[in-house]
Amino acid sequence: MFKQLSNPANYYFNPYALPGIPVSILFFAIGLFVLKQNRSSAINIAFFYKCLAMGFWLFSISLVYLSNNLQTAVAWYRYFTFFGVINITPATLFFVTAWSGRLKEKKVFLAVNFAISFAVYILAVTTDKLISPYQMRHYFWGYYPVYSLWLVPYLASFFIQYIISVKGLCLAYKSENIPIKKLQKKMVIIALLLGITASADFLPKFFNFGMYPYGYISMFVYISLVAYAIVKYRAFDIETAIHKTIMWLFSFSFIIIPILLLHKWVSPHIRASGPLQAWFWTASFLLAAFYFRSVQPRIDHIFQRRRANLEAISHRFAEDLVHLKGLAQLIPRIENVISDALYSRQINIFIYDEKASSYRLKTAPRDLKGSGQLSKDEQFLLWLARNNKIAYKEFTDIDPAYAPVKEKAEDYFKEMEAVAVIPLVLNEKLLGLINLGKKSNLKPYSAADFYFLNILKNQSAIAISNSLLYENMEEQVRQRTRELVEVQKQLTHAEKLATVGTLAGGVAHEINNPLTAVLTNVQMLLASDTVKDASDRESLELIEEATKRCRTIVQKLMVYAKKPLESAEVSSVNLLDVLRNVMSFIGFQLEQENIKLSIDAKKDAYQVMGNANELEQVLTNIILNAKDAIRQIRKSGVIKVSFIENQEWIRLEIEDEGKGISQEVIPKIFDPFFTTKDVGKGLGLGLSICHAIIEKHNGMITARSEPGKGSVFIVQLPKAKIKNKVK
Ligand code: ADP
Repeated sequence: MFKQLSNPANYYFNPYALPGIPVSILFFAIGLFVLKQNRSSAINIAFFYKCLAMGFWLFSISLVYLSNNLQTAVAWYRYFTFFGVINITPATLFFVTAWSGRLKEKKVFLAVNFAISFAVYILAVTTDKLISPYQMRHYFWGYYPVYSLWLVPYLASFFIQYIISVKGLCLAYKSENIPIKKLQKKMVIIALLLGITASADFLPKFFNFGMYPYGYISMFVYISLVAYAIVKYRAFDIETAIHKTIMWLFSFSFIIIPILLLHKWVSPHIRASGPLQAWFWTASFLLAAFYFRSVQPRIDHIFQRRRANLEAISHRFAEDLVHLKGLAQLIPRIENVISDALYSRQINIFIYDEKASSYRLKTAPRDLKGSGQLSKDEQFLLWLARNNKIAYKEFTDIDPAYAPVKEKAEDYFKEMEAVAVIPLVLNEKLLGLINLGKKSNLKPYSAADFYFLNILKNQSAIAISNSLLYENMEEQVRQRTRELVEVQKQLTHAEKLATVGTLAGGVAHEINNPLTAVLTNVQMLLASDTVKDASDRESLELIEEATKRCRTIVQKLMVYAKKPLESAEVSSVNLLDVLRNVMSFIGFQLEQENIKLSIDAKKDAYQVMGNANELEQVLTNIILNAKDAIRQIRKSGVIKVSFIENQEWIRLEIEDEGKGISQEVIPKIFDPFFTTKDVGKGLGLGLSICHAIIEKHNGMITARSEPGKGSVFIVQLPKAKIKNKVK
């Protein structure tokens, strides 16, 4: 048999048989496509089975038509075509039961049905009762089987079951509440009713009436409709493919088939003449070429006019993007282009905000129920980022892709009052979201709209990413400039201090010796009896006092001027010990003046490299200043010293509740001789000495203050490391 079926001599060119072959291949393809969408859904599996059965039937019956002898035609029909035919019944029942959601209760019934169908097939192949191996009719489109009356009960039972199933589906349709599912069921019922017209195709042949077997057309309509109902949510993506297929079928039936038929009719008349034949084929070729080049694109355009308009809008938008700078210009443009093209009632655009780690509403706020802010960990948003596809509210019920986040998606659409959401994804990162409300005319969004939105989605994602980069860069430049200005200020300040220091140091050194001479001499005079007059002695005492004071100033100046650590011993020092030492000197003084010191330290040791004496000097200075500041406005108070550390440094924050320092004064407090204290009380050298010491320790000293509330002095020193050297 295989030899017979594979021998080309058993076939002839028959144009009537041709349409069946591509259509049967389409059946397989559509079935596979639907199955791929959701392999675990009984509906999709049943539909795939049905497509297989029908594809098998149509493909093999086309081969029956192509056969040029009875044996080949019968072999194809008995073994293959009939196998397709007997599978159609159980497949249809399986499919309809799956749609009505009654698979479980009908399990046994379906199994019996399968068994009967297979029994019929076995009977047909093994006996001559159902399909006669010696008899077939030959019509103008090819061979066709003679049905025996034995088949009548089988066909009758098929019809009865078919009608019962349609009724079941109608009931399921009535009780369905979800609109989109109701619509699906309606479409399937219509498709089933159209599909049944295919079976009416073989009734006339019972009575030997040669009606062209148009059944495959009904079947094709049926399969396409049902496939559309099942995967409507995918139809938006494949609309172009569907459109092209329909166009192809049209061109095939209107151009190619007529030409072939024409050739069949005219060929006997032109066979004798070579030129006539050449003329006929050239004319046919030109006609076909004209159709495909000029007519079909026009028809295409009529169908796709809206899409072409939308394409033009998105082109203009892409051109505009070049001139738009920053989100402030971009967001309103995106909003406009969508509302102009699609008449969406409400458009909300959310953009990811790096600082807040959430999505923020960037369009004018309308009465959104939400806060205008979306968490980046929201499950539905994570899903959108992964999927990178426009989500449509209608499809949450029927598209299996939504299954893991169905409820979250429903909540999202409800909260946002949106019917579609466009994720703006770039490099797997969700930069933002565009929520679309209903259209003003209340119509659903069409495939053309989605096609447009998809183009816009990618353009917008790139544009937004650029804008964010641009804004980020601007912010970085601003930040760097601020830092530079600050560093420059510090440098100038440090330079000024160094100059003043050297100068003062030099002068102090020069004055120190004469001052010592003055003091020694005055003290000698006072010790001797030479000066007896009381008022003279008092003058001498005044000179001694004033000289001592001068010497203190000079000595402080010299401390400030000399490099403090040059001679001083450097070792790993515990700052907490330094503070404790300081307190042992000045604790009593503080107590006397009702000032308490509170220490906030989490550890017992905060090691830095440095000179303990000098660090003590720094802390003493700051704490006494703090005490003075408190005492200026109240009778008692607290100075709080906190220790903070990270891997690199240790920071001391000395906080008081004193009178504070005004913003204009803060930059000056580290200058030598700057003081706000009364003459005789402050020299204005304390903080400048602290500054010099801390700087030599590779540290930093700063102050911040709120006048009237208090000040904080911050001393930051690098942690002691083995390699850490001090200048
Ligand atoms: P002096 O204490 O001799 O005035 P400093 O250099 O120690 O010199 O301080 C300079 C100035 O800084 C002070 O006169 C005072 O105005 C201001 N100052 C320092 N510490 C504080 C503080 N804790 N609260 C308010 N002002 C302060």
